[in-house]
Amino acid sequence: EAKRQGRGRWTFFDRALEAETRRRRTLSEALRRALEEERIEIALQPQVRLADGEHVGFEALVRWSRDGVPVPPSEFVPIAEETGLIVLLGSRVLRAALAAIGAMLARGLEPGRLAVNVSSPQLTDPGFVRMVERLCREARVSPARLEIEVTETVLLDRSAARIAEVLAELRALGATIALDDFGTGYASLAHLQRFPVQRLKIDKSFIAAIDRDGREAKIAATVIGLARGLGMEAVAEGVETARQRDWLAAQGCAIGQGYFFAPPLSVEAAAEALARRWTHEPRAAVVPLPRL
Ligand code: C2E
Ligand code: MG
Ligand code: MG
Ligand code: MG
Repeated sequence: EAKRQGRGRWTFFDRALEAETRRRRTLSEALRRALEEERIEIALQPQVRLADGEHVGFEALVRWSRDGVPVPPSEFVPIAEETGLIVLLGSRVLRAALAAIGAMLARGLEPGRLAVNVSSPQLTDPGFVRMVERLCREARVSPARLEIEVTETVLLDRSAARIAEVLAELRALGATIALDDFGTGYASLAHLQRFPVQRLKIDKSFIAAIDRDGREAKIAATVIGLARGLGMEAVAEGVETARQRDWLAAQGCAIGQGYFFAPPLSVEAAAEALARRWTHEPRAAVVPLPRL
């Protein structure tokens, strides 16, 4: 009886595993086709300085629809990382995002910084830094506008030493480095010190906790203090409410990003938002003019 049950269970797990393997293969093949056919897009989500609400930059987020249905990056990015497709995917995202920023600059707009998410297989790919340089040149965007977002897991990667070198090379070009989803991984302060990091992005799970006044809100406060102590800036991701914005600003968090300010926008909508802001809130309103 026990044996039969055991075998039944085995078959169940076997089938589930097989279905999962099949799903992953189908998805990676579809993604490969989408890359070949240049059907990968990006969205741009604004980042705002909490002290005064000024626009300071955009984060580029990859977007892919399969048969008209958007596939969440949380589903296909891990598969792209496992299959190596992430190297091509990442370069497409970078190219598209830089082109968007270059077009804004050509219109006389000030897009601020451009943050892009980069995975470890991209950082260990031999031509990565040269490719970044070339794409910036082609888009007429200074690498100094670029912020490379890496997650904590990158610091624990078996190629961490090589990755630290690559990040230093990117720093030398003028780019900045941000640690994404900070607080969810297992990186220690010792790891943090070994990497040239300028910004800590507090994971949105801790930001959501602010409205509940929970223990996790204390984590957000601690990360903000840690960033300040290390001479870095804290960036809050997933800011959804005015209460969160006010709390973060009071704690000294430098930058916010989230639905409260703006969702990830199409490239066109991002440029329009910037253009509207520019005409409605001219710099003259901020810089006090001499009285006549
Ligand atoms: P992430 O880099 O931490 O990006 C923030 C995620 O939070 C995005 O999800 C964004 O749409 C979402 N978000 C923004 N504001 C809010 C908010 O107020 N509330 C909530 N609940 N969520 C908000 P998305 O676009 O689904 O991306 C998920 C993850 O996929 C990213 O997390 C990043 O790790 C990865 N990813 C996205 N684009 C790329 C890419 O081009 N390359 C790589 N390697 N990874 C990417
Ligand atoms: Mg990110
Ligand atoms: Mg994040
Ligand atoms: Mg995240």
